[in-house]
Amino acid sequence: MRVSRYQSILCTVCLLVFASSLLRAAEGRKYVLAIGIDGLRTDALDAAKTPNIDALKKNGSYSNTCKIQGTRYQKSDTISGPGWTSYLTGVWADKHGVHDNEFGGRRINRYPHFFNLLKQQYPDYKTASFIDWYPIDKFIVSKADIRVGFEAHGSDGYTLFDQHLADRAVKVLAEQDVRATMVYFGATDENGHRFGFHPSVPQYMSAVEKVDQHVGRLMEAIKSRPTYQQEDWLILISSDHGGEGKGHGSGHQIPNIHNIYLIVSGASAAKNEFNQQVYLVDLVATALKHLDVQAKPEWQLDGKPVGLLGAQ
Ligand SMILES: [Zn+2]
Repeated sequence: MRVSRYQSILCTVCLLVFASSLLRAAEGRKYVLAIGIDGLRTDALDAAKTPNIDALKKNGSYSNTCKIQGTRYQKSDTISGPGWTSYLTGVWADKHGVHDNEFGGRRINRYPHFFNLLKQQYPDYKTASFIDWYPIDKFIVSKADIRVGFEAHGSDGYTLFDQHLADRAVKVLAEQDVRATMVYFGATDENGHRFGFHPSVPQYMSAVEKVDQHVGRLMEAIKSRPTYQQEDWLILISSDHGGEGKGHGSGHQIPNIHNIYLIVSGASAAKNEFNQQVYLVDLVATALKHLDVQAKPEWQLDGKPVGLLGAQ
């Protein structure tokens, strides 16, 4: 079929109108990417070559003395189960009930994952979860439209499975309209347990640097979105605990264990080191605030929005 000059011009005009309506629809649209790095000791992140996380720090607020337990309640162990449950629910262990890695006393129906809270106000917002420490996916995740839960196994399994998670997340972040995404990386904790949590341990530092490369790929994927310039992405990075020696249990009095990083980064983030004490549970309150969710009193969130322009 011969396309006339008139038809060709009409086609171009239609495409331009379509593209500009897409851009208009994306104007100011808000997104959250929460990145969780298991067992990330703060001085290791400071010492490692992590240009991608450094760039996010520079473009936001950060603290390396974020507390994994609150002032009201500290009876949960300084391990992954309670840590990730606090990270994802925004409440401390006396509420969510997870005190160890058995998840036995969990009250996740009452204090759910923040995707659940987001969907109460915006049922149509899409959410995505990428996790390779399987208990988080099994016991905590709810209301994830895209749900990738690997069970890392084998020697150095997390290095391999973190890579798989990053691959899957990159594709979703670049191509889909997902308002809240959580990506978990476990190789840092695994290498800490095998070789030691310390900046002088090459295997641990290498794991930290590898995670930074994954973070760089996630950011590239976000920036490749055709509507990226119109969108407002908030990137949150934190951990569940640090480490000392080859462990991190019962670390309530050990700063290298109970202090972690919290980074709040993006155009809507304030640019400075936090001048207030921040807590792991602040992450959910901050994510919800950025997504314009009105937190309900009955949610009983323990955290507060931090690091957002106008929020502190
Ligand atoms: Zn952990």
